[in-house]
Amino acid sequence: MQAMTKTTYLPPVQLLVGPTDATERVALQKVQSLICTAAGCARCTICCSLARREHQQLSWLAPEQYGYTHASLERAYNAITYAADDDKPSVIVMPCAEQLSAATANRLLKLLEEPPANLYVFLLTERSGMVLATLRSRCIEAVVAGPTIAAAEVVPSALFACFTALTINPALVATLHKELAAITPHGTITLLDGLLSHWYTQLHEDNDDAPAMLRELMKAYEQPPLSGGTTLFWRQLLLRCLALKRQQIPYS
Ligand SMILES: [Zn+2]
Repeated sequence: MQAMTKTTYLPPVQLLVGPTDATERVALQKVQSLICTAAGCARCTICCSLARREHQQLSWLAPEQYGYTHASLERAYNAITYAADDDKPSVIVMPCAEQLSAATANRLLKLLEEPPANLYVFLLTERSGMVLATLRSRCIEAVVAGPTIAAAEVVPSALFACFTALTINPALVATLHKELAAITPHGTITLLDGLLSHWYTQLHEDNDDAPAMLRELMKAYEQPPLSGGTTLFWRQLLLRCLALKRQQIPYS
């Protein structure tokens, strides 16, 4: 398995261009294929923690109110130190790469020019023309198509992450609110199925939260939302599940 992973070549520095949902989904798949020991199965505990952006080999950054700051990049540099110490791949993902200013990007440039072995950097953007030319010139650029109308099934990855971690990663709040607003009746069934199978697995792993989560999810499964009520349905379900951990939904 190790040897197989090593022969799978991925350019270490990539700029993924496309709608945020689509580039984040593709980036997550790439990250999972790099770090999961089952070639990115999307189901194992490693893949789930990567989806929650809580794996130590992954630094999934997010710009702050006025773009990327030196402090937010510090996390990326910590990841690099980790990569240098270890034989395992480390990955840095930076959505909204157009928000990297010349001042902040400067420290990144050297890194992108000669990334240390086993370090992968994925920059994501909706508008590649607004990304600093100095950054673009150091990346392999790939265009990610958004979902077409016919196949408009957005994977609600932030919602899934909140319902499995039972806490809300601050970096996911904006995406979470978008997903709550956009979720469809069909997406509701898919998400409930995924969550039920996750929590059944957790039940077998003696996770103390599993019985209460399964009770809530089964209740929701038996009383699916009426059309037009999906956003309220998921918001209320999330509130009930987070209340198990005395957590709330933060405003974006
Ligand atoms: Zn996996």
